[in-house]
Amino acid sequence: MSAPVVIGAGLAGSEAAWALAQRGVAVTLCEMRPEKYTPAHHTAGFAELVCSNSLKAMRLGSAAGLLKAEMAHMGSLIVEAAKATAVPAGGALAVDRERFSAYVTEKIRSHPLITVRQGEVTEIPAEGDVIIATGPLTSDALSKALAACTGREGLHFFDAAAPIVEADSIDMTKAFRAARYGRGDDDYINCPMNKAEYEAFYDALVSAERAPLHDVDRVDVYEGCMPVEILAARGHDSIRFGPLKPVGLTDPRTGHRPWAVVQLRTENAEGTMYNLVGFQTNLKFPEQKRVFSLIPGLENAEFVRYGVMHRNTFLDSPRLLDRHLRLKSDPRIRFAGQITGVEGYIESAATGILTGIDLARERAGKPPVDLPATTMLGALTRYAADETVRDFQPMGCNMGILPPLETHIRDKQERYLAVAERAMRDLAATDI
Ligand SMILES: Cc1cc2nc3c(=O)[nH]c(=O)nc-3n(C[C@H](O)[C@H](O)[C@H](O)COP(=O)(O)OP(=O)(O)OC[C@H]3O[C@@H](n4cnc5c(N)ncnc54)[C@H](O)[C@@H]3O)c2cc1C
Repeated sequence: MSAPVVIGAGLAGSEAAWALAQRGVAVTLCEMRPEKYTPAHHTAGFAELVCSNSLKAMRLGSAAGLLKAEMAHMGSLIVEAAKATAVPAGGALAVDRERFSAYVTEKIRSHPLITVRQGEVTEIPAEGDVIIATGPLTSDALSKALAACTGREGLHFFDAAAPIVEADSIDMTKAFRAARYGRGDDDYINCPMNKAEYEAFYDALVSAERAPLHDVDRVDVYEGCMPVEILAARGHDSIRFGPLKPVGLTDPRTGHRPWAVVQLRTENAEGTMYNLVGFQTNLKFPEQKRVFSLIPGLENAEFVRYGVMHRNTFLDSPRLLDRHLRLKSDPRIRFAGQITGVEGYIESAATGILTGIDLARERAGKPPVDLPATTMLGALTRYAADETVRDFQPMGCNMGILPPLETHIRDKQERYLAVAERAMRDLAATDI
């Protein structure tokens, strides 16, 4: 059996190669840097953190804390390196980025079962096991090869996403369920606005502060994914004839058609998360919270993710991958990292561990790890493979993605801790 190939020595690829090698599987890790750089990487080191130096919260009762605890349980090199190179950052795990990358690079390069091959990979290897972990800025040549393999619709190059909120946090005394013209099964949650509420929202939206777009992010910004604030700036009623159009909807509380309506559509099969339809946005995150909280019913909304606009190569995973991140049409090809539609350093790294372990298990004649849906990584990979998700957008770890507890706990911190403890118990009982 030929050695598996991992393409990309970023957060995910480093973990995947490490997980394989630690299980006795010789592996070839391919990395194009320093011969060729992505627009965001600046060093030759593995697992380079391209922006923030934080791997987010440490507390078990937080989404990021839980995910890191799961990763540590599964033998994460990234979490080990982060702990070894941590800098003081309150409750977060932040690192000295150079020492962090040097730690990972040294561990990988000195592992007897890992061979590092330098240079850009431009084609998907025609045979043997492959893990593709080339990240949000996958090189153009490989992107072309991937698009040829997945079809044009299968690979996205730009992330223009609307915010997502926790279903529980929508005030249903103001919002109502209905589908436009009564078509469908009350599929949408509708947040009605009267004229005064619309005026206040409109003014806040057009004057809110926008995030700067980097050169690397300017590609195709306005093609089919117009930010709601740009559309709004075209005219006072432009969004009332666009995403906020009220036609076909009657507010059961007034018996009338509202002046404007924001519609929310379910994001996952469990109905625990809703996205704001047509609200792709480039506003700064605190501005999104401030402005979108003016929408009646969303005053206390918990944002699972904010809207973003940036370059991001990712697959339409629900159509293409199974929950073990294997290509359905050719399961010898696996994907890991941001390209699978997870978002963030630790989320990317976590999927790398999973694909590495799964491949090592397969070569030992074992089934892939059956991660429980109650674990953060199990929930993230299920979401990525959830065929009911229509307009798939990348997802970071968050508590809203986990199934609710059997008995509801009112206090949020206590509830999150109980959810995290359940995850760790279920993970401990899983064959890894
Ligand atoms: C500008 C930017 C800023 C970000 N900031 C943050 C942040 O602050 N916090 C956060 O949590 N997440 C952030 N992210 C998102 C994401 O978590 C990181 O990009 C993360 O590094 C993704 O991990 P990965 O392993 O999937 O990809 P990467 O870490 O990017 O690794 C991919 C590797 O593949 C290599 N490669 C690409 N193409 C080829 C090829 N054809 N052949 C060989 N090698 C190849 C690359 O050189 C790279 O080393 C950011 C993303 C971008 C683009």
